Amino acid sequence: MSFSKVPEKNDYVNQHHCVAIESDWLVPIESPPIHGGWLVVERGRVAFVGNELPTKFTSIPKVRLADTAILPGLVNSHCHLEFSDLIEPIPVGSSFPSWIRSVIDRRKSIDVDSLRLAEARQAALSKGIVESYVAGVRWVVDMTTQPWSSGWIDSAVDDLSTATPSVLGGMPQPQIVVQPCFELIDISQTRCEQTFGFAKSQCAGANSNSRGRGGLAPHATYTASPRLTQRCVNTSDQEQRLVSMHLAESVEEMEWISTHSGPFSELLSPILGEDYFKSLGSVEQHLKFLSQAWRALIVHGNYLSVRDLAILSQHAASMALVHCPRTHGYFGHAHETSTRYPLAERMLAGVRHLLGTDSRASNPDLNLWSEAQAVRANHPGIASQQILRMVTTDAAKFLAIDDRYGDLSVGGPANLTAIQCLTCPNVGSSYGELYDAILSTKTRACPLESLLVA
Ligand SMILES: [Zn+2]
Repeated sequence: MSFSKVPEKNDYVNQHHCVAIESDWLVPIESPPIHGGWLVVERGRVAFVGNELPTKFTSIPKVRLADTAILPGLVNSHCHLEFSDLIEPIPVGSSFPSWIRSVIDRRKSIDVDSLRLAEARQAALSKGIVESYVAGVRWVVDMTTQPWSSGWIDSAVDDLSTATPSVLGGMPQPQIVVQPCFELIDISQTRCEQTFGFAKSQCAGANSNSRGRGGLAPHATYTASPRLTQRCVNTSDQEQRLVSMHLAESVEEMEWISTHSGPFSELLSPILGEDYFKSLGSVEQHLKFLSQAWRALIVHGNYLSVRDLAILSQHAASMALVHCPRTHGYFGHAHETSTRYPLAERMLAGVRHLLGTDSRASNPDLNLWSEAQAVRANHPGIASQQILRMVTTDAAKFLAIDDRYGDLSVGGPANLTAIQCLTCPNVGSSYGELYDAILSTKTRACPLESLLVA
């Protein structure tokens, strides 16, 4: 069998609707890695994965990718694409609420007129979508606020072809899916009705190839009451919608919830409605409602108690905790014995973990692969295969999208992620060493089709 390192006759390749790719490693993650295996992509879908190329494919165009491992597509479980135009994170300031104040002030500085805000928002979303795609992310769960338009997402994804021109015949067109979770806030009755009305109207809209099923996002314990969370959970349960909520992120949040005082007081007091304090609830109350959702992403959860974590582990099929490693480091959160997030301990206790980038307001970029690499660097006790699951197969399974994403098997769309600059371990070495090498700091992630341009 013969193949060339790059296709010699591009016309010939493009005439075909399929291509056979030989890679150093094919890494489905849930089954053993394949060394020097073949991946056949036909009309955008995976037609074969295995060691030996079947004879029926021997006459199709072939490409060899050196120093590369092909993985299921990356899934970013938490992001705020609206801040993707920031060049650098917003300074932390004296406390977590002072950072939120700076975020709100920045939003207000753009909001000189609604047209400018809409333009700026669309541009930021578009920038975030391109940045995520280029870093190999194939699915992103986004916390979405107004202004927002489904058409902005569709056109930003359509425009991705300019980031990856003329992919080889057979490969899918550049693709990423944004799953919006519409933010809900009830610090006052007006905000409650406004945000719920927006979420309801957007969820009623049809999905598209570039947009996943709309979800609901009661914002946080200090901006959403348990009653609002329950309302979201009822909808989630009836309509099988994702719920995503920030919970127990900072010490200031915990202080505000338990004593109604501290740095959050200054931020929230001027904007609270009459009934706010009556409807304020504990983290545990929110979690008990969230445990009844179809699927609930609990974002950050840095300061969850042992009782709270027990709720998560008891409902691991429908509740996942999203850890955002570099954002955690940015705020310098401290835990009982160290500043390191207690990931291994919580995983051992049965809490399902996924990974997210959060936004550029607290992270230098939207590179999910860097988050996975950060976990490997900071948590040597956690197997690299387990870390890879958090950003691929397990995330896809949890979000119930594994029939299309986060999977490397025959039948699914070839929206896959390539890991480059891999110094491949010997064939005889253990798979553990391979997973470690894949997650080393020297590798980078990209969409597979970006390596297969005509
Ligand atoms: Zn967030």
